[in-house]
Amino acid sequence: MRLGENGAALLLAEELVAYGRAGKNDTVLAKGLLTKAYVKFAMAERQLSHQLAFEAERLARGGGDMQLRVQTSITAGEAWAEEGNFPAALAKLQQAVDLARQYGAPGSLASALNALAVLYTQMKEYAKGFEVLEEALQVAERLRSPGRLAIAKNTEYGLAMDSRQPERGQRALLEALALERKLDAKGMIAKTLVNLSDSYLKQYDYNKALQFADEAIVAAARINDSIIDATARVNIGQALIGKGRLAEGKQRFAEGLRFFELANSQPEMQTVLQEYGSALERAGDMAGAVAAYHRERAISNQLFERQRQKAVYELQEKYEMDKKRRQIELLSRENQVKGAELDNRRLQQRIWWLLAVVFALASAVVGLLYRKVRHANVQLEVKNLELKQQSSRDPLTALYNRRHFQEFMRLHKQVEQRGAGPADADLVGALFLLDVDHFKHVNDTHGHAAGDAVLKSIAEHLRVLLRETDMIVRWGGEEFLAFLPAVPRSGIDEVARRVLNGVAAHHIDYQGRQIAVKVSIGFAPFPLVPLDLPLPWERAVNLVDMALYLAKAHGRNRAYGVRGFAKLAQTSIEAIEQDLEQAWRAGFVELSVVLGGEPDAGGAAAAAPEALSVH
Ligand code: GH3
Ligand code: MG
Ligand code: MG
Repeated sequence: MRLGENGAALLLAEELVAYGRAGKNDTVLAKGLLTKAYVKFAMAERQLSHQLAFEAERLARGGGDMQLRVQTSITAGEAWAEEGNFPAALAKLQQAVDLARQYGAPGSLASALNALAVLYTQMKEYAKGFEVLEEALQVAERLRSPGRLAIAKNTEYGLAMDSRQPERGQRALLEALALERKLDAKGMIAKTLVNLSDSYLKQYDYNKALQFADEAIVAAARINDSIIDATARVNIGQALIGKGRLAEGKQRFAEGLRFFELANSQPEMQTVLQEYGSALERAGDMAGAVAAYHRERAISNQLFERQRQKAVYELQEKYEMDKKRRQIELLSRENQVKGAELDNRRLQQRIWWLLAVVFALASAVVGLLYRKVRHANVQLEVKNLELKQQSSRDPLTALYNRRHFQEFMRLHKQVEQRGAGPADADLVGALFLLDVDHFKHVNDTHGHAAGDAVLKSIAEHLRVLLRETDMIVRWGGEEFLAFLPAVPRSGIDEVARRVLNGVAAHHIDYQGRQIAVKVSIGFAPFPLVPLDLPLPWERAVNLVDMALYLAKAHGRNRAYGVRGFAKLAQTSIEAIEQDLEQAWRAGFVELSVVLGGEPDAGGAAAAAPEALSVH
């Protein structure tokens, strides 16, 4: 690298990097990266050089090679300084000094102190710079190292020049040159020579400036350093202009400038053009000076423009990125919101469906229950009706039963009393009690079922023979009671006859056999009023039953009716009830007798007991 063979140097540095990587050795890797950083710096690839230096420092930090740690810290500090980050640079360089002091490495300490002094120069902290430089010089002298001393003298030159002490600067450079010559340090010599020409130019000592610049060109050629060569040519140009050899000077100047143009190193060109402009100005070439300043301005503008564009571009890019990020965020947020809304709507729909299903189910259940209840109610009504029927009707004949009649009489008390009033003298109620004659015989001859059929048939026939308003009751086994609520008093016997003959005339057809039956009847108007008070219905029925008994006793197939009472003062109604036949014979009771088989015409008259014979 110091010979200017950067390609070969780079290959070796990369080989060292690869070796460190393969062996997983961070110390070797850091050394390789550091070397590569120096080569890249020499190749003017500053950015990359800085990155390599930072990486090397990071890797060395964990290792035990103190010299390497100090070296990488120094280089990293210098890199930060070149990036313009002075605080970071200061931290690294102070750290390098501390490390070198701590581990007692004087060579490293000298390097670190020198680097720190240079940084203070850049930071224009000259007092601190000289302080650090003092220590650096002491360390170098203690080490008896002319090389380190020369380096320190170069640093002193920079510090002195920047703090406007040109004589001290020049003295330091001359001392440095003497040391470098002793060492035959070709690179350092070339650099010091060009710096010397520079310092003489600043003192307007053009001959000395020319002399050192010429020497610098020769020295630069030995180490193949184009920058030093170009700088020396520029210095020669300025010196010639200063001496009044304008055309020649301009030409030499142009030679140097061309290198910087080709290298495209604009910051250097700016500095050189400024110096050029002021040299021409001093020489009285105002037009040339203005031209030089214009060129400098143009480069400055170009640099500014390029930086501005870069900044604008970076800003735009950042803005676009931010915008995109925001859009993406917005979209994702919108998506989230939409998703949530969709979920919400789906949930709502589901809830509505659920409610609808629940409602439908509930309605169905309620409907079913309602129908069931209604059905049950209907059935209950039917059952109630049936029950009522059953409780009031006889199952065989479907006629009212005795209980129903009793209930009827209890509820219609006035029926018993109606006859009491004179207004209904002609229209009365009537009770008829029927008993089938020799019914046992029917049962015995034709069987019980035939007997049942006969009873049913008689019941139907009674319905035909009587009115719908008349109440027909199955009173007992083969006994029937009929209550006629309104009959003309004179028509009661006629009804008895109609029933007597009607039943007898009707032959019952049972399984191909004709069964004929006859009945006996007891009857009376109702209510019965022997004196002032009507008899209770039970006693009236009892009297009718006694009349029926008489009809049976007197030959059957006949009807005996109580017509009225007489001479009651001589007896009691109770006595009559005890023995009807006796009362009849005594003339206390008037009976009408209707015989079966008699023609319908001709009202039955009251019969005298004597005319009767008992069967
Ligand atoms: P009479 O009345 O003429 O003196 O003779 P009877 O043979 O009818 O004699 P009674 O009145 O003493 O007998 C009634 C008979 O009727 C007795 C009984 O076996 C019969 N009987 C009563 N109820 C029923 C019934 O519901 N069905 C049938 N088949 N027979 C009955
Ligand atoms: Mg009987
Ligand atoms: Mg009988």
